[in-house]
Amino acid sequence: MSPRRKMKTRYRRFSQFTDIGGIKSAIGEMRGLGYPKQPPLNKQATGRERDSGFDEQWFVETIQGKIATHPDNSMEYPFFGERVFDEPLVGFVRGDDPIFQDLKRIIGPHHLTPAEIMAWQADNNGVPAPSAADLSVVSFVMPITKKTKDENASQADWLSERWAQTRMHGELFSQSFVREIVTYLMSRGVLAVSPDVTPKMRKMRYPNVGWASPWSHRHIAYAAGLGTFGMHDFLITEKGCGHRVGSFVVNLRLEPNRKRPDDIHAYCLQYQGKKCMKCAARCPVDAITVEDAHDKEGCYQRVAKSIPHCNQNYHIFIYGCALCATGVPCESHIPPALRKNVPG
Ligand code: SF4
Ligand code: SF4
Repeated sequence: MSPRRKMKTRYRRFSQFTDIGGIKSAIGEMRGLGYPKQPPLNKQATGRERDSGFDEQWFVETIQGKIATHPDNSMEYPFFGERVFDEPLVGFVRGDDPIFQDLKRIIGPHHLTPAEIMAWQADNNGVPAPSAADLSVVSFVMPITKKTKDENASQADWLSERWAQTRMHGELFSQSFVREIVTYLMSRGVLAVSPDVTPKMRKMRYPNVGWASPWSHRHIAYAAGLGTFGMHDFLITEKGCGHRVGSFVVNLRLEPNRKRPDDIHAYCLQYQGKKCMKCAARCPVDAITVEDAHDKEGCYQRVAKSIPHCNQNYHIFIYGCALCATGVPCESHIPPALRKNVPG
């Protein structure tokens, strides 16, 4: 046996018991369990501390800085030293944007508004809930590296090893750096909350939409003007659809920095009447069709089956796929023919 093979065989061999990060990521998010306590609000902070410098630029630079330098933005064996994500896109949505009521109608009444999740955080800290007009959502898109996208694009049945690591580390990294930002804001007297690390973030099966969580980072990224949806349901952004998205709510009035197209499919070739369906051709279970677009249930069944593959081959307890988001015309950018649809 080669030294590399030997190392790999020994390396976290029984990930179904030992890969705590992966288990938390795979099961915790379904149940809303295992999240750390919320950071406390510093109620002694003066108005000046609260207002000093937390503007749009601060958020863009802080998130860019975390992704450029954070030690957790890194792969593990056998890809030590490789980054998980490249430079992000950052956008903002006002807390009283009517789109949050639309999301309750489109996704379901369980989808939280910024005011609802912030009322929970305010209650935790014994302070009055801020009005929706005094809130903003910070949304970000973290593009996956070219090496990882190329590796997944070369797969026909199951996600690649780098993609599996990206699923696991990406989620943990995203949660940890957002928590750092939220903790800092709270220490400076600014109420903030990251909905996906609260017990409210419990994924459930809903009658109209199938598996869904009460806070859709992707829909919020659309609201922030960061992208639109494709036939595969991934968000197509100026850096493509191979990415991870995140968002958090702050008690600050931030100005949106991008316009969103009215058409939620503005950057998908097929939806715009130009024959494509390359994503459908990549799907091993035909879960994308011209007639019905993305079959969430069929997709979910396939993705769940990837756990044994990742466990056995990569020693990670995680699920994933995204074959339809790699090796396709919208993988790393908006298809050139549709760039005219980006609002000026
Ligand atoms: S591969 Fe083509 S049809 Fe599928 S989402 Fe991308 S642009 Fe749309
Ligand atoms: S993520 Fe779902 S729709 Fe996309 S290729 Fe995999 S199973 Fe098919």
